[in-house]
Amino acid sequence: MLTVESIDTFYGEFQAMEGVSLKVEKGQTVIVVGPNGAGKSTLLKTILGLQKPRKGSVKFLGEEVSGLPAHKVVERGISMVPEGGRVFPDLSVQDNLRVGSYNPVARPNAQRQMEQIFSLFPILSDRKKQAAGSLSGGERQMLAIARSLMSCPKLIMLDEPSLGLAPLVVNMVFDFIQQMKAEGYAILLVEQNANKALKVADYAYLVESGKLVFEGDRDSFDKNPYIKTAYLGL
Ligand code: ADP
Ligand code: MG
Repeated sequence: MLTVESIDTFYGEFQAMEGVSLKVEKGQTVIVVGPNGAGKSTLLKTILGLQKPRKGSVKFLGEEVSGLPAHKVVERGISMVPEGGRVFPDLSVQDNLRVGSYNPVARPNAQRQMEQIFSLFPILSDRKKQAAGSLSGGERQMLAIARSLMSCPKLIMLDEPSLGLAPLVVNMVFDFIQQMKAEGYAILLVEQNANKALKVADYAYLVESGKLVFEGDRDSFDKNPYIKTAYLGL
């Protein structure tokens, strides 16, 4: 479904990604773990077209998307939930969701999609008319995820959805990721919480200093002595 090949991404002279390759197959949940500053957000931004790679390619459903502007990539079926559960605080929950359907592919289905989302997220349905700025941190993250579903994506990219949330709320977010997986969405999940993320992962990548240093299934992560000590606290 998604094939990222040998990506180099720069901020000015600073190289944030070097030779990064990664794949997501249909229906798969793939995770990218790594420390702060490793380049995880840069990777998602590069896939979405917010950051142009200097080298390499990004193919989605067999077509090159790396030259496209982000809104065109979204139309092709990739959505992103940015770090920090950012929503429009002055808009209602409902209007935040509407913003997510602002493309010609998604707009005709917006009403139906919103009804589905409300049945999936009763918490949001109860707060339809409430300003998004008055939601709790966990509810805001849920809204940010729900808004990304409004563009009718095939692949959802989540950037550290559990960051800064209380443990109980973190579990809610991961339950929801499981639910999206069961609905058939492909998911690319960036997380610092490697333990939790590995539980939902079909395949995992470890990024350090802009490079992929390890990849494999959950088992091979669990068995790697370095990863066990550095990331899993075992
Ligand atoms: P992560 O998401 O893994 O914490 P990022 O992708 O945000 O890492 O950042 C990777 C590296 O690129 C870091 O060293 C960071 O300081 C740098 N970086 C990120 N965004 C920018 C930017 N807009 N301009 C310059 N450097 C950036
Ligand atoms: Mg980040």
